[in-house]
Amino acid sequence: MSLFIRHARTSLSLALHRATLSQAQLSARRISPSTTALFSRFQSTVSTFQPGEPSAFEDEFSAPPKLYRKLPQCDPLTTRRSTALKDGTAQVAHPQHIRASSLQEVNAKLMRDYVQRTPHPPSEYYITLSFYQFRPLSEMDVLRMQYFLLNDLRAMDVVGRIYVSTEGMNAQISCPKNREEEFKTYFAEHWSVFDKIRFNRAMSEGKAFKKLHVRVKRQLVSDGIDNSSFDITDQPIYLTPEEWHSELSSLTKPPILIDMRNHYESSIGHFEHAIRPDVTTFKENVDAMFEICEGKEDQDIYMYCTGGIRCTRSGALLRSKGFKSVKMLQGGVTAYGRYIQERRQEEVERVKGESETEKKAKEVHSIYKGKNFTFDKRLGEPITEDVLAKCHLCGSACDTYHNCSNMACNLLMISCPTCRTKHEGTCGSSSCVDMVKDIRAKQRTIDEKHPELRGMKARPGVQPFHNHRMRVRPDVVLSNVRS
Ligand SMILES: [Zn+2]
Ligand SMILES: [Zn+2]
Repeated sequence: MSLFIRHARTSLSLALHRATLSQAQLSARRISPSTTALFSRFQSTVSTFQPGEPSAFEDEFSAPPKLYRKLPQCDPLTTRRSTALKDGTAQVAHPQHIRASSLQEVNAKLMRDYVQRTPHPPSEYYITLSFYQFRPLSEMDVLRMQYFLLNDLRAMDVVGRIYVSTEGMNAQISCPKNREEEFKTYFAEHWSVFDKIRFNRAMSEGKAFKKLHVRVKRQLVSDGIDNSSFDITDQPIYLTPEEWHSELSSLTKPPILIDMRNHYESSIGHFEHAIRPDVTTFKENVDAMFEICEGKEDQDIYMYCTGGIRCTRSGALLRSKGFKSVKMLQGGVTAYGRYIQERRQEEVERVKGESETEKKAKEVHSIYKGKNFTFDKRLGEPITEDVLAKCHLCGSACDTYHNCSNMACNLLMISCPTCRTKHEGTCGSSSCVDMVKDIRAKQRTIDEKHPELRGMKARPGVQPFHNHRMRVRPDVVLSNVRS
């Protein structure tokens, strides 16, 4: 089919399904001119095409009834038509009849435009939420979901990283505080197919993401295990943070407690007595889990991760192998951190007026020590003041992660303030220091020459030189640099 016909066909189908974004609405939503052009193309046929008119593409759409057939009412995802925005006016085009390839094109375009050109409220107005659910979806529904989420969440000034898949969805988002309820209501109304989602709020406030990404993934958490080989609905026992705390605190001997996170996450904070596999990926951790649990089918197995999604999957994997008592921390370390935070706040209220010694004696005990690593720009939030890790450059006690400021290196490492200043925010290798110094000098020249560009950063257009495994192994990388 010629390109023209393909485009025309997309235009026609979108127009037929109420592509009602007016120019004013488009500009009100700050969509870039190029996206506007894309939608205009869809809209151009609205005025000329009347329902009932013979289609110009008889061979493609044999008759109008085919286009207007009633949609099956089985799944809200496939029957959703429009989205009311905050001001109650705008609607987005309904992608019901767009073919997957066209919708992919539209989504990619939306994502490119949105992430680059969206002014947001200041960081302090944001809170961070994470949520997930495994639920089978068709490939087309995944694309529609990507399309709607990109449109709707952007209209609510939400930023973050959302993974959608034929398995379900996994999201970490930062939402303006004053729109948290609006967001939750929106979610309940429009995404009722996700009926088991729990919103897991982070301890600290502030915007944890710069942009909004909604990406289509093959697997939500990748362990390479075929979904048909086990039953994801055969779930482990979910312990609330409170139940988890009291159960683990009252055990007389150390439990089989597995940290389902990677080595760089568990090294800055973990539960007391946890077994922490030295792994770089979830797939490796699942292998380690099976090794640890071998022959212990009748014992209690406890597991935890950041937000719960990894245990939801690995817990079901263990259940499928005949493990009887698998218990996981609901909402993961994030939920436990909030539980401790809330208990501390209650305690502060209760002990008002008491002496410092009395207060000290009643301090809330956390069985998690240190920081909770987070996959956002914060790279972690503290639960207790314990510092469990060391600066990778000088060895002093430190648990603050940074990425090497040479973006081509991007090594994820712990570096103390002294080392960061001394090595220009890099990993300390001479090539990275030289590169960063060079870029900064160039930036200064550009700033002086073009004051109007101040604040825009020069970027080194080079290939990353660590693969994803080595990028999180500063101990190995830096020992190679030194030798
Ligand atoms: Zn240091
Ligand atoms: Zn580096």
